[in-house]
Amino acid sequence: MNEKQLRIQELKKEKDAVILAHYYVNDEVQEIADYVGDSYYLSEIATKIKEKVLVLCGVRFMGESAKILNPDKKVLMPDMQADCPMAHMADARKIEEIRRKYEDVAVVCYVNSTAELKVHSDVCVTSSNALKIVRALPNKNIFFIPDQHLGTYVASQVPEKNIILNDGYCPVHARITEEEIKEAKAAHPKAKILVHPECQALVTAMADYAGSTSGIIEYASKDDASEFIIVTEKGVLYELQHRNPEKKFYLVNETQCCPDMKKITLDNMIQAMENGAPLIELEETFINQAHAPLKKMLELAK
Ligand code: SF4
Repeated sequence: MNEKQLRIQELKKEKDAVILAHYYVNDEVQEIADYVGDSYYLSEIATKIKEKVLVLCGVRFMGESAKILNPDKKVLMPDMQADCPMAHMADARKIEEIRRKYEDVAVVCYVNSTAELKVHSDVCVTSSNALKIVRALPNKNIFFIPDQHLGTYVASQVPEKNIILNDGYCPVHARITEEEIKEAKAAHPKAKILVHPECQALVTAMADYAGSTSGIIEYASKDDASEFIIVTEKGVLYELQHRNPEKKFYLVNETQCCPDMKKITLDNMIQAMENGAPLIELEETFINQAHAPLKKMLELAK
């Protein structure tokens, strides 16, 4: 452990804090975290934590979800500018328009979204539980926000529903092309292709396995293959290598990197923990309204 990581350990005790980190943050942050996981795991674990302060090492919507699920806790964001562009790519007016057009519609909101979008939604999903939850809903019409690519993947797997797509996308996953996958496969013919469904449909269709970040880690850890082409954010390599030191993992290009996730550093963690700021602050009524779709997700995903 380096000096900064030791300082963080001291601050954790001093401030009664716990560190939650997403698989996409820098390796040295994952190394020091108490809990590391994907969005679903982090929102679920956030409801079970005893400590008073949650240090959320990820992007802003994750901090908001943690606050909504734990209004009595302090949720510290090491960098408030770490924000997911896709989280803003839907609009409340359009949701209301769709509600007027389809009487029985359920608005299904990927957790990668602002708290404001959650307020206008019926249920949240993550990439780990989207299929299960959409199948479980009684509604035929589903307006899936904000990610068009995850929505397209859900539509392909749950054909009995009418999935209405929105036009949001993750800039990190959506820029990966079919050509790049073909090139990676030509370079590593024995490797299996593991894809996150935030990628374009043509890319996801080339996968040996398509699923959430934690699904990809599980698959690679259990599968007999010894080489894998990883088609998601590169931070996941830390956990993959850690769990499978004897296996080989390849990226398809160097742009598989989320600049917002990488804003979280040991320095801004120390600063935030020393200052007790910046904190996620949400109004009580807002918290109550955004809580319902998150709670429904946790219930339906059980
Ligand atoms: S990887 Fe994509 S979806 Fe995830 S936080 Fe970054 S921009 Fe948002």
